[in-house]
Amino acid sequence: MQEWQQKRLREIPPVNEILSAEAAQALLRAHDRELVTEAVGEVLAAVRAEIAAAPDEAAAQAVDLSPEALARRAERHLQRRLRPRLRHVVNATGVVLHTNLGRSPLAEEAIEAIVRVAGRYNNLELDLATGERGSRYAHVEELLCRLTGAEAAMVVNNGAGAVLLMLSALCRDREVIVSRGELVEIGGSFRVPDVMVQGGARLVEVGTTNKTHLRDYENALRPETAAILKVHQSNFRVIGFTEAPPLADLAALAHRHGLPLLVDWGSGVMLDLRRLGLEPEVTMPELLAAGADLVTFSGDKLLGGPQGGFIVGRRSLVDRCRRHPLTRALRVDKLTLAGIEATLRLYLEPDRAAARIPILRMLALRPEDLQPVAEALAARIRQEAGDAVRVRLAEGFSAVGGGSLPGVEIPTVLVAVEPTGRPAHEVEAGLRAHEPPVLARVQRGEVLLDPRTLWPDEIPLVAAAVARAAGQGR
Ligand SMILES: *Cc1c(COP(=O)(O)O)cnc(C)c1O
Repeated sequence: MQEWQQKRLREIPPVNEILSAEAAQALLRAHDRELVTEAVGEVLAAVRAEIAAAPDEAAAQAVDLSPEALARRAERHLQRRLRPRLRHVVNATGVVLHTNLGRSPLAEEAIEAIVRVAGRYNNLELDLATGERGSRYAHVEELLCRLTGAEAAMVVNNGAGAVLLMLSALCRDREVIVSRGELVEIGGSFRVPDVMVQGGARLVEVGTTNKTHLRDYENALRPETAAILKVHQSNFRVIGFTEAPPLADLAALAHRHGLPLLVDWGSGVMLDLRRLGLEPEVTMPELLAAGADLVTFSGDKLLGGPQGGFIVGRRSLVDRCRRHPLTRALRVDKLTLAGIEATLRLYLEPDRAAARIPILRMLALRPEDLQPVAEALAARIRQEAGDAVRVRLAEGFSAVGGGSLPGVEIPTVLVAVEPTGRPAHEVEAGLRAHEPPVLARVQRGEVLLDPRTLWPDEIPLVAAAVARAAGQGR
C-alpha cells in the first residue's frame, strides 16, 4: 500500500460521525439502528476497498469521504437491501404465458379476492351453515363441476401435483398404458415416465412416436392394468404421418374393461378459443363428455388464474384422490383458493372471462388493435430517446408460451428499436437492469418490443427505460 493510500484511509470518518449526518439521522428515524449501522459498515468496507484499488492519488482523492456523502451511500445501500427481490417486471416479449415471468397475471377480481382473505380470518375450513368443520375444496368444487360438467372436483398446488396425486391414488403398484407419442417432458424435472415412477405406477408404453392405434392400447391390457392415460402434447407438435385414436374410442375401450381413462390435459381450456380468434382446442366439458373419467389441468396456463392443479371427473375417483395422504402435502393455500374461486366465477359468463382475464384479453388482440398502441409506444420512445435510437414498426408474431398451444403464432405489431450508439444486446441488458425491469427480445441488431403483453400504464415506463438504456455511456 502506498503512503497516499494510507493517508486517505486515515481520513475516513468514524461511524458515529457518519450516523450524525442528516441523511443518516433520517434513516435512523425510519429504520432499525442495527440495520443502519450495518449498512454504514458495509459502505465503509467498500470505500476502503476503493481506496486500496485506486490506481493513483487523484483517484483516491476522488472518493467522497464527507459524512453526508457516506450517509447517502448507506441510504442507497439500505434501499437496495430492503427492496423486494421478487418484483414487478414489464413483459415486452409478447410471450403471454411466460413461465419465467410468473405465467398468468391475475384478473382484478382474483386480486381483490386474495386481498380480502389475506389479512383477516376466513371460513377456509368452516361450514358456515352448520358451524362444523368444512372442506377447503368446497369453495371451488361446485364451480368447477358446473364449468366442466364433472361430478366432482378438487384442487392442489399445481398441475404436476395433480398428476402425481392421480397416479399415486389410482395406479400405485399397477400398470398404466401410455402412447409413446405422449411421453412428454414439460420442463424442469417433470417428465411423464418419471412422474409415473414417483406415483408408484408401472409405465407400459404402446405405439410409436408418430402413430398409436386403438389396438396398441387393447393389446397391452392385462389384469395388472390400472388405467389408460392420455397426456396432452403440450409443448410440441408431431406433424405429418400421425395417428392417435379419438378420445371417445379410448374411453370406450377402457370402460369395456372396467378401467378409467385418465387424462393429463396440461393447460385447461374452459372456453371456445375461436372466441379469441385462435384455433379451437378441446375444452374441459368436451373432454369429460367424450368419456374421460378423470382430468388434470393447470390453474395458471390458459385458464389464467393462480398456480394450481385441478382434478375433475367421477366422484368415486376424485374421492380416492382426496383421501390419499399426498393431498395434505399438496394442499392449496387460502390465497390461492381465493384467487381460483374468483377466476372460475368469471367463467360463469364467458364474455366476462374473455374481457376480465388478462391472458385471454391479450390473446384476443389483433394487429389492428395493437397498431395504435405500437404507434403510441414508438412516438414516446422517439420523444424520450431522441437520436439515441431509430424506431420503426414491424410485423411479427407473439407466442402463447407456458407449454400451451405449441406452434401457434399470433400476428402482432412490434416496435423495433435500433440503438445508434451501442449494440442492441447491451440495451436489452440495460432494460433488464432498469427499475422496473423491462424484458424484451433482440433480433438482428434491434430490440423488439411487443405491445401485446403490456398494460397501458407500462408504456411510459418502457419508453423511459429504452431512453436510459440506449443513452447510457454516450
Ligand atoms: C404444464 C403441464 C403439467 C404441469 O402443470 P404445472 O401447473 O406446471 O405443474 C403437467 N402436464 C402437462 C401435459 C402440462 O402441460
